[in-house]
Amino acid sequence: MISPQPAHKEQTSMGTIMSHKAFGMYAEDCLDAVCREVARLESILSRYIPESDVSRINQNAGRNFVEVNPETFNILARSLELSAICDGNFDITIAPLVNLWNIGKNSFTQPPIREMKQVLELVNYRDLILDASSKKVGLSRPRQAIDLGGIGKGYTGDCILEIFRDFGVTSAYSNLGGNVVTLGAKPDGTPWNIGIQHPRLVDSLIGSLAVIDRSIVTSGSYQRFSNDSLGNQFHHIIDPATGYPVESGLVSVTIVSDNAMTADVLSTALFVMGVNRGMELLMSFPKTEAILMDSEEKVFVSKGLKGHFQPNEGIEYTILE
Ligand code: AMP
Ligand code: MG
Repeated sequence: MISPQPAHKEQTSMGTIMSHKAFGMYAEDCLDAVCREVARLESILSRYIPESDVSRINQNAGRNFVEVNPETFNILARSLELSAICDGNFDITIAPLVNLWNIGKNSFTQPPIREMKQVLELVNYRDLILDASSKKVGLSRPRQAIDLGGIGKGYTGDCILEIFRDFGVTSAYSNLGGNVVTLGAKPDGTPWNIGIQHPRLVDSLIGSLAVIDRSIVTSGSYQRFSNDSLGNQFHHIIDPATGYPVESGLVSVTIVSDNAMTADVLSTALFVMGVNRGMELLMSFPKTEAILMDSEEKVFVSKGLKGHFQPNEGIEYTILE
């Protein structure tokens, strides 16, 4: 008989507060292992840890290939595949632009256009070269750099699900700050109810999603941003085509999928692409659904979420067939 009380742990990692819950006999030990796994992944994937695989690739840009963990290699290989499928709207070589815009920092000023154009030249996922036989990785040009901020937490979510399963847990939930993964249903067999944050209203939801065995990942311009002295707001998702924070008309994109890494990439890519191009891209991913909100607070829900999405009071939405 599964205990009705879950084991619960919080940890701060990857720049966010994470919360893990699991039910079952070995739930406590399982969550200890989950926290260790998250810390391990941060140590290889963060570009703010100087010894990480990602930092070593960046430090050697335009100079040397570096040997990386096979796991890092596979994440990078999948990142490149998805970047191509997303037509370059998702691009992990975005790092020099993220640095230039200094998003999330206090003393924020818009970079000079000339400098921005020069830095934009450095962004191209095709310049990340992977050598499968040696598991070595290199960036073609000096000053290029990669940033896994748009995919790393998704991958981490998939690894957490593996650990839940390894410990025989059949009902669990993890919130990685905007990325939620669920294993199975709640112990009473009913679906998990996952709230979708309203991008404009504090402590308010667009609605909630009833899910079993799904990952729910949200990208939003409200999640990380800075204001300049004129009161302009700049958020953290950059359009690799223009070098500017994205203005696609969307303020929030939620992706629902059975793969958290793919959902993470798509949440970022659809945010860049906007409703029409984004929904077209989504069609090529089976069993993958979306909830979008635009700057006029119009909500669009893909048809596979019919019966799973419950809007908050006052929220009207259109089902996209
Ligand atoms: P997410 O919150 O998953 O949409 O990811 C946003 C994070 O990914 C940012 O904080 C950057 O670190 C990075 N990023 C920003 N723009 C892009 C982009 N167009 N493609 C890939 N990663 C991006
Ligand atoms: Mg993402």
